[in-house]
Parts: sequence; C-alpha cells; structure tokens
Amino acid sequence: MRTFRFSCHRGLACFTACCRDTSIFLTPYDVLRMKRRLGLSSGEFLARYTRLLVARPSGLPVVVLRMGDDPEKRCPFVTPEGCRIYEDRPWACRMAPVEVRDDEPVFILEPSLCHGQGEVREWTLDEWTRDQGLDLYDTVEETFREVTSHPRLQAEEITDPAVRDMFLMACYDVDRFRRFVFESRFLKIFDLPDELVARIREDETALLELGFRWVKFGLIDPGALKVRDEVLAARRPPPRE
Ligand code: SF4
Ligand code: SF4
Repeated sequence: MRTFRFSCHRGLACFTACCRDTSIFLTPYDVLRMKRRLGLSSGEFLARYTRLLVARPSGLPVVVLRMGDDPEKRCPFVTPEGCRIYEDRPWACRMAPVEVRDDEPVFILEPSLCHGQGEVREWTLDEWTRDQGLDLYDTVEETFREVTSHPRLQAEEITDPAVRDMFLMACYDVDRFRRFVFESRFLKIFDLPDELVARIREDETALLELGFRWVKFGLIDPGALKVRDEVLAARRPPPRE
C-alpha cells in the first residue's frame, strides 16, 4: 500500500486557508455530532448551518454545510486558532486533503496551496483513517451507505416528496425522527425489541441507526424491520367464501 507524507498544523502559512469557499457534504452522523456539539436541535442546526441539494440520480436530499456570507465565504466554524468544533468536525474535513481513488490515497489540493504535503509524518491510508476517527463513521453509517449505494437508487429517481422528506427526517433530523417514532403509530406497526426501544429513548446514535433501517425498509428491503403480526394480518385480504 502506498504511503503519503502529510501533517496539518498551526505553523503552516496555509493554516485554515482551506476552511473557506468549499462544498462540504455532511453525512448523517456529522449532523448528529455537530448539532450536539453546538447544543442545538437537529432542526435548528439544519436551518442555521446547512442547505439542501438533490443527489442524482436518486433524487434524495443531501446536506451541505453553508459557508459564511463574508467575501471570503469562510466556514462558520473557523477561527484563527483552527476549527472550533474540531473534535466533531465533519467526515469531509477529517479526510481532507486526501481522497481515495482505486483504494489509494490521492491529494486533492495542490502542494502550493496545501503546505502540509511533504511534511515528515508518513501515513498509510488505514493509519490516516484511524487517526481521523473515520472507523466510527463506517460502523454507524454502514446501513446508510448500503441504502445510498444500492443499485435501485443508482438507476431510479425517487420523485415522491413525502418519501424524500422521510429520508431527510430519518437520516438528518434525528430530533424530528424521535418525535415521529414515539408520537406516531411507528411502534404499533414495527416489532422492535423492548431493549432497543429503551435504548433509542436515550441514545441518539442508536436512534439514527434505526432511522437508517427504516429507510432501508422503505426503499430497498422490506425485511429490514419486522412488521407486527397483527398489522400484517389486518392488511391481508379476507379469505374467499
Ligand atoms: S468544520 Fe472545521 S475543519 Fe471543517 S471547514 Fe469548518 S472550520 Fe474547517
Ligand atoms: S491547506 Fe492543507 S495543510 Fe493547510 S490547513 Fe488546509 S489541510 Fe492543513
């Protein structure tokens, strides 16, 4: 495996120069961590710090961090000392300035702009992703990635606004999804173990993972959640005389 040399630190002339005028796509777990870090509800965070785009070809919403209105379009979280939410910075900021192509690390910024390239610290891709805390994302978002990379969503556009909104709620708006789970017929329809119901009351990450399973159930795999027997029985047509 190829290695690369890189280190990002305050001593570099480019320090924080990359935290402006850039498109940072937020993953669901990013939104969860950032809203928690800032003490906001997920709805407040989405309204204040993000804008929505539409993924192609799926037609599903994607969330992008909104840069500032200042002439430099700086990230709302950048300070002269660095990122003020560093421990909960987005996935894309953890990876940058490295991208993976054909399983190999590639720099996406020119060395003249990103001076950390060529510093003495040497990394394999595995070491880098571990150091940046990206393994946790792989675990938490496994089902989300399974859904969004599914062949159905690569070939077919979801056009129903209600389905798009359900996806947005379950994947990015965890506080709205919590209300939906506990205040609608959700728990009367789906047969969830008591232990899981207790956990999702307290644990937002578990609630997010349930959201991914619900989206998987609705979009690609009806086996992803168990529907209660009585609900299925009520849906069956009556036997013919
Ligand atoms: S979130 Fe932090 S690391 Fe990412 S662009 Fe903003 S200031 Fe930079
Ligand atoms: S340009 Fe590169 S080295 Fe400079 S702050 Fe950004 S990531 Fe770090």
